[in-house]
Amino acid sequence: MAFGSCFIYTAYAGRPTNFLYELNFSIGPSSKLIQTALERVFKIYNTLTRSSDAIKTQKKGHLTFYSCGPTVYSYAHIGNFRSFVTADLILRTAKSLGWTVQYATNITDVGHLTEDDVAGSSGEDKMAKALRSKDGDQFANVWDLARFYSTRLIEDWHLLNLVEPTVRPRATEHIREQIAAVQVLIEKGHAYETSSGVYFSVTSFPTYGKLSGNTLDNELEQTVRDVVVDPEKRDPRDFALWKKDDKHLMQWYSPWGWGFPGWHIECSVMAMNYLGDEIDLHAGGEDLIFPHHECEIAQSESLTGKPFSKYWVHTRFLQVEGEKMSKSLGNFFTVRDLVAPEAEGGKGVDPLAVRMTLMSGHYGKPFNFTLKTLKGNVKHRERLAEIIQTVGLPADSGLSYTGPFGTILEAMYNRALDAMTEDLNTPSALAALFGGTKQILAKLGSLSAEDTTSVQRWLWDMNNLLGVVYSTQTTESSEPAIDPLEATVQPLLDQRKEARASGNWGRADEIRDQLLQMGIEIMDTPTGAKWKKTGSI
Ligand code: AMP
Ligand code: ZN
Repeated sequence: MAFGSCFIYTAYAGRPTNFLYELNFSIGPSSKLIQTALERVFKIYNTLTRSSDAIKTQKKGHLTFYSCGPTVYSYAHIGNFRSFVTADLILRTAKSLGWTVQYATNITDVGHLTEDDVAGSSGEDKMAKALRSKDGDQFANVWDLARFYSTRLIEDWHLLNLVEPTVRPRATEHIREQIAAVQVLIEKGHAYETSSGVYFSVTSFPTYGKLSGNTLDNELEQTVRDVVVDPEKRDPRDFALWKKDDKHLMQWYSPWGWGFPGWHIECSVMAMNYLGDEIDLHAGGEDLIFPHHECEIAQSESLTGKPFSKYWVHTRFLQVEGEKMSKSLGNFFTVRDLVAPEAEGGKGVDPLAVRMTLMSGHYGKPFNFTLKTLKGNVKHRERLAEIIQTVGLPADSGLSYTGPFGTILEAMYNRALDAMTEDLNTPSALAALFGGTKQILAKLGSLSAEDTTSVQRWLWDMNNLLGVVYSTQTTESSEPAIDPLEATVQPLLDQRKEARASGNWGRADEIRDQLLQMGIEIMDTPTGAKWKKTGSI
């Protein structure tokens, strides 16, 4: 099925637009806008408190944020991307308020078992199973398979104009830290070894169940029914931190012999490694509430004795045409199934129309993805393209809203920002986008120079907030070029430099301590601060 014009896709998606993005967030909204935006309240539904809470970050105007990424055993589907788009919108809304955001989202490339929803963590490793499948034939080994699908993930990520995270850690690159965490949990009496692995003792963490509300023993045990459980486990609810397996395709040597880490421990370790013991916000799809996030809380809080994450945000599942997405029903879509040219077997749809469709329902409600909605959004994208063709892409953020039409557009933008700060009300925010589009189109042939500047400013602001106006991500096939550690450490070093310059020694010391906790040592030299991993030369 064809979907009309994919003008924006062909015209803009391939532009070297990282430059725009850099400008966008390094310069950001004007200082006047930041001032007013910083005072705004950003509310989000918090699964932990079961209420819509105003986000109060630990450090004013700075959000530390972790979102669970995909298991790279196949192409991510549009359901996965609905959850990633929610995370992207949290990031964009925070940045539009003038906040800085430290955003980590992982790649799970080991340890996620087919039966990981159950506490015994039985079943087969999803990566190993994929390698044995028909599609797996093309890969030399499981590492090759992981690399292939990680690269495809990042390509699709950019196609949908999702902002690159500050850091995108991989489970396999943090095995040492995971082993160390399991050792500490054993030392603290929260975990124990059996002949099949190491298990977290749920009874050692009395508030287990606080996120999901599954507090009754029988509810928690429900998930282990019908599966083989290790008879040495002390409690059926205890979940795996380490699986012993010297036949596994991906295995590491540990104090408990050859094996691989459990799925839940990777996110605890990577979140704390990059963002600190206490983070502001943690997100994922609704299926992760239990057991994954419940287990993350138990592990992290047992390790540190501190609250792990203050806000927990979960995206409800996407269905397609009213049914669960499944290959057998023929309603299973990856991003590339929709956006690839028809000659290559795709539907040739503009990727930002796909993104718009994923945002058209509120993240907190189940969402029905239909080809009809997608078609409607292709039309919305064409209207935006017409405006961009006339006024051009905004070149920088120094533009301002001027004149009476500027006032109208600024109000439209504020409506969208208000909607997003009210628990990411994307349907209302998109309505403000469409309303503004209509008003601009109505006078497109008679825009004054002043009006044109205002329209450009509006496009800039709306795009920063919603990411559906034009693409700012490169669509080239690439791994992120940045060193993940550098990306995390450098912003903190910059903040420390600022604190020292303004004589705020307390804050400077606080940052030094935070970095030390992350295993980073700072050395002040005549040419500025340098850093190294503690223990390295
Ligand atoms: P996975 O690759 O299974 O680990 O999933 C990656 C992310 O996508 C997780 O946050 C899941 O909760 C989320 N997810 C999986 N399926 C869907 C769906 N149909 N709708 C929304 N989110 C989903
Ligand atoms: Zn996770």
